[in-house]
Amino acid sequence: MARIAFIGLGHMGGGMAPNLAKAGHDVRAFDLVPEAVQHATDSGCTPAASAAEAVGEADVVITMLPAAKHVRAVFHDDVAPNAKPGALLIDCSTIDVQSARDVGEEMKAKGFDFVDAPVSGGIAAAAAGTLALMVGGTDEQFERARPFLEPMAKAVIHAGPLGSGQAAKICNNMILGATMAATVEGFVLAKKLGLDLQIFFDISSKASGQSWSMTTYCPVPGVGPETPADRDYEGGFAAALMLKDLKLAEEAAQQVGAYTPMGAKAEELYQRFVDAGSGNKDFSGLIRMIESGQE
Ligand code: NAD
Repeated sequence: MARIAFIGLGHMGGGMAPNLAKAGHDVRAFDLVPEAVQHATDSGCTPAASAAEAVGEADVVITMLPAAKHVRAVFHDDVAPNAKPGALLIDCSTIDVQSARDVGEEMKAKGFDFVDAPVSGGIAAAAAGTLALMVGGTDEQFERARPFLEPMAKAVIHAGPLGSGQAAKICNNMILGATMAATVEGFVLAKKLGLDLQIFFDISSKASGQSWSMTTYCPVPGVGPETPADRDYEGGFAAALMLKDLKLAEEAAQQVGAYTPMGAKAEELYQRFVDAGSGNKDFSGLIRMIESGQE
């Protein structure tokens, strides 16, 4: 079993790190928030007093941080100067493709193996070890990383070379943002046309309007499986994070000259939803804004 440094024990990392400990690894856990380290310790990890201490003797370093600036800083300042030569470095955060490539190239130049491995699935999937992970790196790096990703995942997929994990993640979430917005609109229109929403769900979830946003994550309370809609849109996937991913997708689209009008529209809708103070609500709560008929 390996020694693994896990840095970033928030909503996602706080669920993921204990699954590596349960798989028998020696997990050295660090976060800037002491309560997060305590929670990981209670769940089978060993606390570290700093990122430098966590990575010191580690064979593998895994990070789960908010955004690119944190990833760049942690790898440059904490990981590279302190990790063992040849250690395997895995970033599971969702960041832009260019930052993933930059950090990966910097780590390669310093003699490390680096893969980007962002995750799909929310906080519940992180805790249950049922995330989908999409990995960017060489074939050899992917095979080296796979055994350390599997205890956290129901699927671990090699997306392509460095940065490809992030590329797949933002394309996936651009589809998710757009399909959720379309699903929300469908239900709002169905209601105004006098349809029973359960009956509409029964029809559309078996017809060509179905998507993950409808069948697994229905935005209407009391309709379909239990979802954040049944908990007043608490928990789940925060609208602010959806907006972050849509912005990453739009940035990437501009960089490569891709025409993504649905992604741009979804970004505009989520920007308004977040600006209205709903950034912490689940992203399916967009239905409230659409129902209210705001221009
Ligand atoms: P979070 O804010 O809950 O957790 C991030 C943690 O990183 C925090 O506990 C913070 O204290 C810690 N941190 C920040 N800088 C640090 C540093 N220098 N050293 C050590 N710790 C540091 O965020 P999250 O919801 O866990 O998301 C993490 C990443 O996963 C994000 O990139 C997010 O976009 C992505 N993601 C989130 C979800 C979700 O449903 N929450 C789903 C898929 C992907």
